[in-house]
Amino acid sequence: MEKRLFSTLVSLSSLMIPLQSQNPLALDNYPVPVAPINEYVLGDDYTTFQLWAPTADSVKVNLYGEYKDGQQGEWIASELMEKGECGMWTFTANRRLTNAGYTFQTCYQGKWNEETPGIFAKAVGLNGRRAYCLDMQSTDPEGWNTDELDNKPLPFSYNVIYEMHFRDFSADESAGNKYKGKYLALTEETTHNKEGLSTGLAHLRELGVTHIHLLPSFDYASVDESNKQGQYNWGYDPLNYNVPEGSYSTNASDPACRIREFKQMVRHLHQSGFKVVLDVVYNHTFDVGGSNFQLTVPDYFYRHNADGSFANGSGCGNETASERPMMRKFMIESVLYWLKEYHIDGFRFDLMGIHDIETMNAIRRAVDAVKPGVLIYGEGWAAGSPQMPEKLLAMKANVAQINSIAAFGDELRDGLRGPWDNDANGAFVVGIPGHEESIKFGLVGAVPHPDVNLDQVNYSKKPWAAKATQMISYVSCHDDMCLADRLKATKPGASVQELERLAKLAETAVFMGQGIPFIFAGDEILRDKKGVHNSYNSPDSINCIPWGCKTAHKDLFDYVCQLVKIRQQHLAFHLVDAQTINERMHFLPTKMSNLIAYTIEDNNGECMVVVLNANNKPKNVVVPKGEYQVLVKDGKASAHGLSMFKGNRVNVEPQSALVMFSRP
Ligand code: CA
Repeated sequence: MEKRLFSTLVSLSSLMIPLQSQNPLALDNYPVPVAPINEYVLGDDYTTFQLWAPTADSVKVNLYGEYKDGQQGEWIASELMEKGECGMWTFTANRRLTNAGYTFQTCYQGKWNEETPGIFAKAVGLNGRRAYCLDMQSTDPEGWNTDELDNKPLPFSYNVIYEMHFRDFSADESAGNKYKGKYLALTEETTHNKEGLSTGLAHLRELGVTHIHLLPSFDYASVDESNKQGQYNWGYDPLNYNVPEGSYSTNASDPACRIREFKQMVRHLHQSGFKVVLDVVYNHTFDVGGSNFQLTVPDYFYRHNADGSFANGSGCGNETASERPMMRKFMIESVLYWLKEYHIDGFRFDLMGIHDIETMNAIRRAVDAVKPGVLIYGEGWAAGSPQMPEKLLAMKANVAQINSIAAFGDELRDGLRGPWDNDANGAFVVGIPGHEESIKFGLVGAVPHPDVNLDQVNYSKKPWAAKATQMISYVSCHDDMCLADRLKATKPGASVQELERLAKLAETAVFMGQGIPFIFAGDEILRDKKGVHNSYNSPDSINCIPWGCKTAHKDLFDYVCQLVKIRQQHLAFHLVDAQTINERMHFLPTKMSNLIAYTIEDNNGECMVVVLNANNKPKNVVVPKGEYQVLVKDGKASAHGLSMFKGNRVNVEPQSALVMFSRP
């Protein structure tokens, strides 16, 4: 979510619930067990249920029959649990309850709370209200045991992220998918639009991206899973953090179905050479009064204001307290669970600025101990003001203190397209002067660089990345207008050809820098969202990619495909290290607005020249004298080379980029 209030999901009354504990310090002192969180254990001839609730008066587990023939099981029994060490309550049944349903109920000050599936349910039924004792191995698809062997790590600078929502990607008729808006759409090999051009998985293969970033795919609250009509929501409203969302499965009532299909999708993406990034939203829950956290241990998992009301750094009515030992443990173990059980390759932290630095570093250490090369990035901001000193939070300004975790580079994004808080204002791409330094800041990957005039950078007066791979390089994402809409809003009356030229120029800046490039699904074919800025619950008619766009903007698509190839083939875009970038990347003195030119020498002696000309006139630029192979020129791009150029003065066409390199 973007850094603005986003309170539509939450009723204000939930903010007014008073602290049940009168002494907030006491919350920090709750005992926390060392053993991993495990709310059910299936033994050969027993089943143990466990729930952490150190201050509860009583806790019970309600047992239900298994899901069968389309029906949820009947209530069987409710059993009081016994309190043990570290606030753990347990109950052991003397048989193996595979597939049985269960919920927990806690009692505080004589009042029984509503039923909850617990904080760490691994399987749930319809709308996530009841948990199930699944034997997780039974959900593994074919080839799952060897899946990770086919999935080799990739250095961060070679990661190319494609951000997509399941419905956007495959629900429109024009996508040609059988499984519209479902996990399984990403297992369909050959789909195409009406004109026969590839869509879906085959489209991603052509594009050459490496990481498929899925918008929230854990179980979220805002879509009724029993509704067959295909309600839409981005899904930034967490319900059960450790279970896939039901509405993207073919049967949301069957607890095993969503899990099996999610794994099938991951397996298929891995076999197709892609890595999978999960969008995780630990910073807030859908509501607070009825959240699984609150029904388990009231107030513990959230931050509060001095008056006892819930803090609201998320803009959604609450913010979680990552610094509390059990919340930190929960986040670390949740991430590890997705890594191990679902073979996830990366995590995008929503409103990462709400979490504390220590927790993010602990997550990185825990992840590295399990799997190499896992990409972690996040939004280095909050939506409101978190109840924690900013210097302790995983804000963008503090990213250098967080080992190998990246933040979104909004300096580059807004330097290219215009500010996040005013859709009508354009920037560099539409020829408005004054944004050059913000773009340069982003091109070097937000590391210190002598050629960047920090006084003129839009948001940051200090470089914030320790390495360039700590910056995500982008011009648009699901938040705000997509690229086509933003270009239309800031360049009224522009022809289709001009919009394509501007989109090409913007994407060239995204790919020909040192940060990790990121594309919002459909920008590569100039899809629009009919001008809707915050489409989080807009219908399919706004959000779904109309794949006819690929036919209409094939030229742009081909161009972006070549940008991906060029980036992956040249070391110049993989310098990573701040000192190396300082030594090898130099901006040329163009002395002109809307014109940025730079050279990058790689350590094989190749010299890359990049010129971005946002003027509506051709510009002449002096470059180091040499013999160059031209890769990008006047709206055309080819990784094999378009032509040769010899000399030291190049002409760069209006609203276009030039990329060329010379060999030693
Ligand atoms: Ca759900």
